[in-house]
Amino acid sequence: RRRNPGEAEFHQAVTEVLSSLGPALERHPEYVSGGIVERLCEPERQVAFRVPWVDDQGAVRVNRGFRIEFSSALGPYKGGLRFHPSVNLGIVKFLGFEQIFKNALTGMGIGGGKGGADFDPRGRSDGEIMRFCQSFMTELYRHIGERTDVPAGDIGVGGREIGFLFGQYKRLTNRFEAGVLTGKPVAWGGSHARTEATGYGTVFFAQEMLATRGKSFDGRRVVVSGSGNVAVYAIEKVQALGGRVVACSDSSGYVVDEDGIDLELLKEIKEVRRARLSVYAEVKPTAHFSARGTLYDVPCDIALPCATQNELGRDDAVALTKNGVLAVAEGANMPSTPEAIEVLRGAGVLFGPGKAANAGGVATSALEMQQNAARDQWTFEQTESRLAAVMRDIHTECRATADTYGGAPDDYVLGANIAGFLRVADAMAAQGIV
Ligand code: NDP
Repeated sequence: RRRNPGEAEFHQAVTEVLSSLGPALERHPEYVSGGIVERLCEPERQVAFRVPWVDDQGAVRVNRGFRIEFSSALGPYKGGLRFHPSVNLGIVKFLGFEQIFKNALTGMGIGGGKGGADFDPRGRSDGEIMRFCQSFMTELYRHIGERTDVPAGDIGVGGREIGFLFGQYKRLTNRFEAGVLTGKPVAWGGSHARTEATGYGTVFFAQEMLATRGKSFDGRRVVVSGSGNVAVYAIEKVQALGGRVVACSDSSGYVVDEDGIDLELLKEIKEVRRARLSVYAEVKPTAHFSARGTLYDVPCDIALPCATQNELGRDDAVALTKNGVLAVAEGANMPSTPEAIEVLRGAGVLFGPGKAANAGGVATSALEMQQNAARDQWTFEQTESRLAAVMRDIHTECRATADTYGGAPDDYVLGANIAGFLRVADAMAAQGIV
C-alpha cells in the first residue's frame, strides 16, 4: 500500500489473489525464494500519456491514457481498453493484474495487460469518438504489436472504437497487422463469436457449476446486471438455455420485466439508439424501471453481475441469499466485494469468480489472433464450440486445483487463483529473474 498509494482497487485485487496462495507457496517454496510474488505485483511496464482532442464545438479537450503491460510470462500482453470517466492508474492496474491469472487459466499463450482512458464516451458524436480514438492511438501505437501487446475492448470500447483505433494504427505504421487488436468486425479480421464470447462464456461456466448440483438454467429466474456487451450476450445465452432473465440494469437504474427481457428491444435501445435503459420501460408495458435500489433485490435463482467492479456489495449478497439464489457467476471484473463473496460462500451459493467465469472473452480473442496468424476465418459454430470447451476446461481445472490444495471442490476462488498463479509462476521461474 505504501508502494502504490491511493490505488484501492489494485490493493483489493492483489489481496484477493494473495490470500488464496498460501497452500501453493507452502508446496512450492522455490516460488518464495525466487521472488515470484513480488515480481508479479509489479507491472513490467506502465505507460501514461496525454490524449488531446477537439470536440464538436472546436474546444480542446485533454484526457489521460494508460497502458499497463503487466506480465509477458506466457505470451504477448493481452487485455482490453476501457474508456470511462472513472479510469485511473489503480483501476487499470487492478484489471491488468486480474488479467494475468485469467489469461493463464485459458491455457493459451497470452500474457496480461490492460489500458484505457478517463474519457467519457457517453453523449459524444461519432466524429468526437473517432478523433479521440485517433489521438489515443497516436501514442499507443508505439507500445503495441501482434507479438508485443494486443489490446481489445472493455467498458466503453466496442466494435466502433476498435475500428477507429485500428484505422489509425494502420495509418501510422503502414501495415495491415490484423493481430494487433482483437474484437475487430468479422468483415476485416474479426472472429465470429468474439462479440458474444464473454457473456456466453459466463453462462457456460455457470451451467457447469449448476450441473455439479444436478441443476440447469432451464426454467430458472435470472438477473443480469449491466446492459452492455457482456450483459446482452449473457442474456441471449440464458434465454437459449431456457432461463428467464427478469431484470437488467445500467448506471441509471434497473428494469424488471416479469415477461422476460425482450432482447431485440434491449439491443435496439442500447446498441443502436445508445439510449438509457428507462426507455425500455417506456416502450414495454410489462416492464418497470427503478432509478433507486438494486436489481439484486429482485428474487432470482441465478445472478450474473456483468456491469462493473464492486457493484455487488454485502447487502446485495444478503438479499440474494435470502431469496434463495443458487449461483452467482461474474461476467464483469471484480463485481463482488470481498464481504459479498464471504456472505455468498458462507451460505453455500455456487460462486464463479470473474477471472474464471468471464475468461471466455479473452480466450476468443486468442482464437481471433490464431485466425489472423493463419489468415483464416472459422465459422461461428466452430468458434463457439472452442469457447465452450475452454470454459469447461477452466471449470474442471478450478475444481481439481481447489481439491488438490485442500479446499472444497466448489471453492472456485481458491482453484482459479492457484491454477492461474501456478501456470504463470512456472513460466517465470523457467525464464529467470527478469
Ligand atoms: P460495456 O461498456 O459494453 O457495458 C457496461 C455496462 O455496465 C453498461 O450497461 C453500463 O451502463 C453498466 N454499468 C456501468 N457502471 C454501472 C453501475 N455502477 N451500475 C450498473 N450498471 C453499470 O462494457 P462490457 O460489457 O464490455 O464490460 C462489462 C464488464 O465486463 C466490465 O467489468 C469489463 O471489465 C468486463 N469484461 C468485459 C469483457 C469483454 O469482452 N467486453 C471481457 C471480460 C470482462 P451505462 O451505459 O449507464 O454506463
